[in-house]
Amino acid sequence: MQALTYTAPELFELTDKPKPRIIDPKDAIVRVTLSSICSSDLHILHGAVPKAEVGITVGHEFVGVVEAVGADVSKAKPGDRVAVNVETFCGECFYCRRGYVNNCTSGGWMLGCRIDGAQAEYVRVPYADNGLTHIPDNVSDEQALFVGDILATGYWAAEISEISDQDTVLIIGAGPTGLCTLACALLFGPRHIVVCEADASRRGFVSRHYPGVTVLTPEECGERLGQLTGGRGADRVIEVAGGDETFQLAWRSARPNAIVTVVALYEKNQTLPLPQMYGKNLTFKTGGVDACRCDTIMRLIAEGKIDTTPLITHRFPLSRIQEAYRMFARREDNVIKTAIYPG
Ligand SMILES: [Zn+2]
Ligand SMILES: [Zn+2]
Repeated sequence: MQALTYTAPELFELTDKPKPRIIDPKDAIVRVTLSSICSSDLHILHGAVPKAEVGITVGHEFVGVVEAVGADVSKAKPGDRVAVNVETFCGECFYCRRGYVNNCTSGGWMLGCRIDGAQAEYVRVPYADNGLTHIPDNVSDEQALFVGDILATGYWAAEISEISDQDTVLIIGAGPTGLCTLACALLFGPRHIVVCEADASRRGFVSRHYPGVTVLTPEECGERLGQLTGGRGADRVIEVAGGDETFQLAWRSARPNAIVTVVALYEKNQTLPLPQMYGKNLTFKTGGVDACRCDTIMRLIAEGKIDTTPLITHRFPLSRIQEAYRMFARREDNVIKTAIYPG
């Protein structure tokens, strides 16, 4: 089968690999019907993910059809349409039992990083009962594509930010994950959402698709946020941008006693200027997604409460995935997300 392989640092190549087989009774084999490219794939390409194994098939955002299951898989059967979770988790260890599946002692981000992933025709999914989410008949592959990765992240970020109906929520960054965070934050019914984004085309996207949301540039963020909140600042800040200055923007934009949730994956260390922060009494929440709300997210999609299909701006067959990578990496043609079809 065709598989996009991390053959060397700075190099992904389409190679021919054998179709995966079940090697553990908790495995499933999934035939990929749609996948996507994530900025984490670019981090692997550029050598910024030390645990990524040279030789693996990349890709971890995908949906497909179950081809085969191991003897200990009870929730999925051949023929089922499924969304696949970016995180592999056992469901039984100390962290999994508390919902902190990102820290599973025998899992974490495996697919497309430490084991073969989804930019291929077939994938072996370990712990299939935890990693597969059924796609209802009224939900298309494109509607379900982001459930296991960026939508899981957006939902997790909104949930741990403890948003109430009194809150003004500031979301910094309107890239794919920021947009998913926006879609999920809206479900928690805050009084007001403000999105801060440097890129004009992305600001335009938010204005077109989320008309009730205030959209600002980083330069106007401080003053306008003050006007909107009686001079206090945002009650909740979710930092999804990961830029050079965006962590500073995040905590400065927060009112005293706010929650600041940091989803962004920075390439450089960030400064926590505690003397300047003293007295603001902020609560910081940070980390990688605990992707264990996929059933909830899928139900919300089926009910029409989340629709991320507008994020799919470009479509490619797997045979032309290198073009999709170039476009995504260079942000050509205002690309937000690409969908990769088999063939
Ligand atoms: Zn990802
Ligand atoms: Zn575990």
